Amino acid sequence: NPAMPANFIEVIINEDIKTGKYGSRVHTRFPPEPNGYLHIGHAKSICLNFGLALKYGGKCNLRFDDTNPTKEDVEYVDSIQEDVKWLGFDWDDRKYYASDYFEKIYQYTVELIKKGKAYVCDLSAEEMRQYRGTLTEPGTESPYRSRTIAENLALFEKMKAGEFAEGSRVLRAKIDMSSPNLNMRDPVLYRIIRAKHHRTGDTWCIYPMYDYAHPISDSIEGVTHSICTLEFEDHRPLYDWTLAALGIYQCQQIEFARLNLTNTIMSKRYLRRLVEEGYVSDWDDPRMPTISGLRRRGFTPAAIRDFCDRIGVAKSNSTVDVALLEHCIREDLNGQASRVMAVLKPLKLIIDNYPAGQVEELIAENNPENPAMGTRTIPFSREIYIEQDDFMENPPKKFFRLAPGAEVRLKHAYIIKCEQVVKDEQTGEIVAVHCTYDPETRSGSGTANRKVKGVLHWVSAAHAGKAEVRLYDYLLTSQQDQEDEGAEAKDFVDRLNPNSLERLVDCLVEPSIKMPPVGSRFQFLRCGYFAVDRDSVPGKPVFNRIISLKDSWAK
Ligand code: ATP
Ligand code: MG
Ligand code: MG
Repeated sequence: NPAMPANFIEVIINEDIKTGKYGSRVHTRFPPEPNGYLHIGHAKSICLNFGLALKYGGKCNLRFDDTNPTKEDVEYVDSIQEDVKWLGFDWDDRKYYASDYFEKIYQYTVELIKKGKAYVCDLSAEEMRQYRGTLTEPGTESPYRSRTIAENLALFEKMKAGEFAEGSRVLRAKIDMSSPNLNMRDPVLYRIIRAKHHRTGDTWCIYPMYDYAHPISDSIEGVTHSICTLEFEDHRPLYDWTLAALGIYQCQQIEFARLNLTNTIMSKRYLRRLVEEGYVSDWDDPRMPTISGLRRRGFTPAAIRDFCDRIGVAKSNSTVDVALLEHCIREDLNGQASRVMAVLKPLKLIIDNYPAGQVEELIAENNPENPAMGTRTIPFSREIYIEQDDFMENPPKKFFRLAPGAEVRLKHAYIIKCEQVVKDEQTGEIVAVHCTYDPETRSGSGTANRKVKGVLHWVSAAHAGKAEVRLYDYLLTSQQDQEDEGAEAKDFVDRLNPNSLERLVDCLVEPSIKMPPVGSRFQFLRCGYFAVDRDSVPGKPVFNRIISLKDSWAK
């Protein structure tokens, strides 16, 4: 949208284009680590990076940041590609892996050692922590810092050859142990990890650190604007140092605020725990804020992109109300989802003056917001089902639904009046209600001008299909912002909502949705928007409630 004011990243890019810093090139990348499934926070980064490339006629790479073999897997690589595509973005032929650069990074590193800018250090992890100092205390130089270039080259070669135990040595940058920035106090560049990498197998037993591999990968790919989240602001000096020390193409890192959502947990670390400890069924459980969970729940890519547009890009962290995401999906579905009738908790209703055995085909509009979606027919007969909640024997004032003696309209059908309640003799539970209908009041018949307040949805007993409906609530109960990185894991389990899933297994649906395709979406009148889950079987579709109809987003 050209009318939208430029966000701060676009301001930087506009300036870079003006000064010709990278010519007129704009080249971004989306760099997930394949150690989990993507979530809605990643969607923000995807929309931003791919969006900038589209806006400026530039390019955006998909790069797997796979420098830590212990946590990564092809399962995640595959799911990430599926999710990016599903969101509507395309990396064309620009799919890369940081692991493709291992040899190159190694070569660069040998050069770095030759320049006297890196050394092999034998301190243990604990010793290194002690030597590092604190924010107020300068660090202490490692006794191994003065190793000669020849010695370092030989040791690094041996590290690579697998001659040392895991954790026994690292390669460190030689920068400044008294830097006020802890990241610059001789950070580790390489560590020994004896694990099979999902792509390079056992070729390597030394792996570059993220902070070191990332700028080099950006540089190799000719990235112009390397956009990352705010936690990396303190790492930027190391990013710049790495490229300058190696003397290779210099791209720039720009930090933006990560997405936090109310009632939502987003770190992969916690999402993994939800899966592994069985709080959810899998990464694509419809309650998960993963892209695959949102997809299964029934969210559309357009709604997620719209959400990412609306939240914008800022330089300071904040928490977005999840109601905005919900608003976006309602807006998108309102114009495109067929309105259908489904009864979640059925109560039998018999229309005593309607001829037994008679079936009428009533005409129903598919979407009043979108007349082009046409109409369908719905069978009506003497025995129908309505929602249990739509009947009360002793209703409070302003209960505009059904009660003894009261009148309501059955959507697309007739006005009915409640004549009698049938109860189970043992339990006292209401098992059916008897009504009469007014034949003069058929919807759309021209004589339907008599008005009543309540309009109920229903299904014809003889024609309805069975269905399961799954209703969802937030995974986290509290309104507090999402977990901060240091939060105790216990907090997060304590805040889990025990009622985040409600399964209703005896629902009844109108004939048009007896066997809808998996993934199709509907508005169940008065109940919300629903999507067909892949757990559906012939004769029993499963519907996920995407979202209720009531919009709580304060504009
Ligand atoms: P997590 O903390 O959830 O594990 P991560 O940042 O470690 O996320 P990566 O796979 O490294 O996960 O993320 C890929 C890209 O997505 C990074 O550029 C990162 O900045 C971005 N990203 C991750 N989480 C968010 C978020 N909540 N909001 C915006 N961008 C995010
Ligand atoms: Mg990361
Ligand atoms: Mg992470």
